[in-house]
Amino acid sequence: MPQIPSEINGVTIEFGPEVNRDVHPHVLVMLNHVVRQKISPGQILKRIYISSANDQHQMPSRHAQAKAVDISRINGMKISVYYPSSPVVKEIVDSLQKAFEKSPYHRENFGPAMKQKLGHPHHVPGHADHIHFSVN
Ligand SMILES: [Zn+2]
Repeated sequence: MPQIPSEINGVTIEFGPEVNRDVHPHVLVMLNHVVRQKISPGQILKRIYISSANDQHQMPSRHAQAKAVDISRINGMKISVYYPSSPVVKEIVDSLQKAFEKSPYHRENFGPAMKQKLGHPHHVPGHADHIHFSVN
């Protein structure tokens, strides 16, 4: 499986210490679609922090299938602390989750801005402190 690179479209990708970067190729297609510096009209995305990829979850999570990533920091700022109080974090998180809905292979889109599965509202607990994206 390919690895998530350290940079995507000019955006630096940071990783938690336990993260296994080997993922299904569709995750990379999705990240290339979603992760862009000019994701939001008023903000520049410089860095995202991936706290989980192919790891740290039990089946049937998409993580264990190497088809999911969790993003917990935007430009070095924790979503748990700075969403929605920081306009930078709020606007970029909202824009990332919106962009994901137009991405190839999009499946689970869980985060503080919305919770959707296959394009429809989906109830799932948690996800106020990170974005979870998974692919088909
Ligand atoms: Zn997740």
